[in-house]
Amino acid sequence: MNKLIVDSSTEKRIKSGIQLLSGKDFPDLELTDDVVSIQSRSGQFLGTAYLSQQNKGVGWLISRQPIQVDQEFLVALFEKAKSKRQSYEQSELKTAYRLFNQDGDNFGGVTIDRYGDYALFSWYNAFVYAQRELIVSAFQRVYPDVLGAYEKIRFKGPDYESAHLYGQEAPETFHILENGVVYEVFLNDGLMTGIFLDQHEVRGGLVDGLAAGKNLLNLFSYTAAFSVAAAMGGAEATTSVDLAKRSKELSEAHFRANGLDLENHRFVVMDVFEYYKYAKRHGLTYDVIVIDPPSFARNKKQTFSVAKDYHKLIAQAVDLLNPGGTLIASTNASNLTMGQFKKQIAKGFGQIKYRELSVQQLPSDFTINNNDESSNYLKVITLKV
Ligand code: SAH
Repeated sequence: MNKLIVDSSTEKRIKSGIQLLSGKDFPDLELTDDVVSIQSRSGQFLGTAYLSQQNKGVGWLISRQPIQVDQEFLVALFEKAKSKRQSYEQSELKTAYRLFNQDGDNFGGVTIDRYGDYALFSWYNAFVYAQRELIVSAFQRVYPDVLGAYEKIRFKGPDYESAHLYGQEAPETFHILENGVVYEVFLNDGLMTGIFLDQHEVRGGLVDGLAAGKNLLNLFSYTAAFSVAAAMGGAEATTSVDLAKRSKELSEAHFRANGLDLENHRFVVMDVFEYYKYAKRHGLTYDVIVIDPPSFARNKKQTFSVAKDYHKLIAQAVDLLNPGGTLIASTNASNLTMGQFKKQIAKGFGQIKYRELSVQQLPSDFTINNNDESSNYLKVITLKV
């Protein structure tokens, strides 16, 4: 096995429990897409890692021990991950959730989600992609009940982004259950699946009645999953706004899957900043507003980054909120700390008084590395004006 000798700052980081190897620390690294033994300058063994270029970082520490990435090692990882998710496995109200979450389950670069009888693997670098037969066969030993699987490519290399991986093929679209609500999903159409599983607790709060009897506005709504959850939880009306044309039919599919009448539920294909102006012009106001933008977006006129511009979304939402209204502000930007996010919110409110009702982060199936704050990327703050 090749050795990689690291400097003292990387040594410190590794010892603090961070698994991601940052590109900044290894400017001249030859990326071998292979397993290496990590050692300090003084020759101390620090752990086993693999090197591979991905969107964030150049590799992952995968053990504090000298190990081989073989069946036995991977089966043990999957069994441990499975034991952490027993409550999900036993729940009859939830058939879709994350089975394996990168460094939260001690092996960065790969995630696996369950969608009913099927699994969805996401590969974040060329190393895990090259090892996928081994990874899949270990997975199948731990999850013999999974009928078939799909894969998503989340790094530059292969000339496809989605494919069937093994076993039975899933229907083009099918239903999963979450908090007793039905969502229509698809596993082989680009990188998206019709639902973002990491938001299931926030949807759970809506199903439990956070917006009961209320008029809800859902901004950056994608397939309107928050709106469906709210409607199932007794919301009187919902409006879902997304720029993507396709979002409308996908949103309607979720509503129909639950037998909901569409009369009080609107789907607007529009830029959110345009919708703010439209709503103001027409005197539209709401009791609950959900804001869940992409970390970075660009339209014809402007670029938007959560880190710099979130306060603008808040300020304009506050203008549309009824007195005593509730705001659910969400972001999945890992480059923004909770403190920075709260500052953006405070800036958006300016002089207007508000109080926090709850702060949510990733749910327990999206395991995190407790020693690495950036692995807990999701931040959802519910506020009352
Ligand atoms: N809240 C959603 C996920 C949002 S994903 C959910 O819970 O499922 C981000 C969405 O923002 C995408 O669907 C994208 O089409 C949309 N989007 C990006 N820029 C936008 C803009 N300027 N106005 C409206 N929608 C936008």
